Amino acid sequence: MRNPFEKSSILIIYTGGTIGMKENPKTGSLSPFDFSQILQEVPELRKFSSKIDSYTFEPPIDSSDIEPSIWVKIAELIQEKYERYDGFIILHGTDTMAYSASMLSFMLDHLSKPVVFTGSQLPIGLLRTDGRENLISAVEIASAKNIHSRAIVPEVCIFFDSRLLRGNRSTKVNSSSFDAFSSPNYPILADAGINIRYHEHAIHYPSLLERPLQIHTNLDTRVAVLKIHPGITEQVARNVLLGEGIRAVILETYGSGNAMSKPWFLDIVRESSQCGKILLNVTQCLAGEVNMDLYSNGKALKDAGVESGYDITGEAALAKLFFLMGKYSDNDKVKSLLKKNLRGEISK
Ligand code: ASP
Repeated sequence: MRNPFEKSSILIIYTGGTIGMKENPKTGSLSPFDFSQILQEVPELRKFSSKIDSYTFEPPIDSSDIEPSIWVKIAELIQEKYERYDGFIILHGTDTMAYSASMLSFMLDHLSKPVVFTGSQLPIGLLRTDGRENLISAVEIASAKNIHSRAIVPEVCIFFDSRLLRGNRSTKVNSSSFDAFSSPNYPILADAGINIRYHEHAIHYPSLLERPLQIHTNLDTRVAVLKIHPGITEQVARNVLLGEGIRAVILETYGSGNAMSKPWFLDIVRESSQCGKILLNVTQCLAGEVNMDLYSNGKALKDAGVESGYDITGEAALAKLFFLMGKYSDNDKVKSLLKKNLRGEISK
């Protein structure tokens, strides 16, 4: 048990990403560099009253190389260091940050401490970098406690461009400007102006009866994503929906969960569902939700055995399936839990 009067301790876990990248003088392209460079560029970190330690993944990676084994490593590291630290910061590339934050939100059960993902659009060594401000505010958020010494944001979240978002509600929306992330279906958890304003009504707090952190590291990745589009061929639909080694298919549909009503397509969807695959309907729209009762085209999917993803993001849908399928071998159990709000990922 830690002494409540002790200053906060933060662990920065550096996985890679633009924040720590340097330009290769020969090719001009960016590749990951080591963490010492980040510390050199942000001397302000020493001014914090919090104790800050770091852990570097070797080698640091571009987050497009992220894999489930790295999520497992992050979850295990957090579990190992959980008692020693009050908050965790994951420095991560932006490309797959929303996937990793979504995944960790499911892997870390009974979380009562902040796990804040951040990174940057410009390397930390550049004059106009957004990395410095992102990292400093993330440290402040991860250290923040209320008068009862409890974490103000005990969630897996993303801090980027002055805003704190719930991790499993976030998506990368811009590849070139500083406001790279958005959380279209859920309010922001905090915004950093002169002060950091926490929107406590939107933050999830665990029950006062603290339960120990439990991690789930068995992930079943047998998921395919089928983006519905005009002109999709029967062969493509068949290959994905009836493909071997695929346990679940995320159907990325139009609007409120619609797809074409052609009999050949609905026959394949029905066959896929009847042979036991889990089919999850997620909208291609950035905001809003799936409602398969609104249009007959949506209703036809529901009747063919497709489950609603409600207002889940594509990233969280994938993570929720990896997590649930890793935990349960019974597909009906997985389907019933897809309907439930497990980590604040859907508005239900
Ligand atoms: N490709 C980089 C990455 O995801 C982009 C970034 O960090 O912004 O690692």
